[in-house]
Amino acid sequence: NAEPLAQLISKPEAQRFYQTREKFGHKGTYGHALIVAGSYGKMGAAILSTTAAFRIGSGMVTAFVPKCGYNILQTAIPEAMVITDNEEAFLSDISFDFEPSAIGVGMGIGKNKATVEALKKLFTDSEIPFVIDADALNNISENKGLLKLLPKHSVLTPHPGELKRLIGEWKDDYDKLEKVKKFSEKHEVVVVIKGAYTITVYGDKLYINTTGNPGMATAGSGDALSGVITGLLSQGYDPLLASVFGVYMHGSAGDIASEQMGFEAVMAGDIIDNLGEAYLDLF
Ligand code: AMP
Ligand code: MG
Repeated sequence: NAEPLAQLISKPEAQRFYQTREKFGHKGTYGHALIVAGSYGKMGAAILSTTAAFRIGSGMVTAFVPKCGYNILQTAIPEAMVITDNEEAFLSDISFDFEPSAIGVGMGIGKNKATVEALKKLFTDSEIPFVIDADALNNISENKGLLKLLPKHSVLTPHPGELKRLIGEWKDDYDKLEKVKKFSEKHEVVVVIKGAYTITVYGDKLYINTTGNPGMATAGSGDALSGVITGLLSQGYDPLLASVFGVYMHGSAGDIASEQMGFEAVMAGDIIDNLGEAYLDLF
């Protein structure tokens, strides 16, 4: 009954994690994801994560973006609802009048002071499951007050640079894992260490992903992942399962994209476009 401390995640494990779509399900069954993302010149991050949340199966997705993103989002993704901040070019007050089933925040939001304050308000007393990525992570690294408000059971998805800012330098891989484990235990969060073999850490448990390829080293690839995990959370996957299964599916979609066009040509949108194929390939 003792689970191993480190587990490799390949197809048989992913099959066990998959939660079946119900015959009588309706869009409410699969949740309403909120993607809080984008700033002037970085609205693509919001588009990619919103689309990924839909493709992984969210029933509904709303994007919360600065005003300048309104037409961009509505045009790029007709399926999405869009709410805008009062500011034109960045986020300053993240308020909405519904209860999302999951929130993905940080992709392309920048580091404006007003954005940091808006994140504090968003995190305070929130019971909603979060995916925290990109500039939301960078803001947390630079602001102890924001770190203190980190909602428990959140999923953090740093790439190596973001991780370094969050936990400081490490000596070697062993040291890195020890530091992440401590951070995960202290803040009660799931940490997804992104890279060629993405490792998901929750307390003393490690999950090593086996899908993915160098074609995924391309802009927006991480925004797709945060949308995927948010979309799984919205469907009721718990934070650890959403992370481990989401990382597997994201990598599998990237593998399918690379088989079609070769590593070099893959763009983040191709990963998202193949999430459906990744589901079909699962069984
Ligand atoms: P980001 O840097 O935030 O865009 O995230 C990059 C995403 O692409 C993460 O999910 C990484 O795991 C994935 N990725 C980047 N490079 C590779 C690689 N060489 N092999 C597999 N996955 C990769
Ligand atoms: Mg990123």
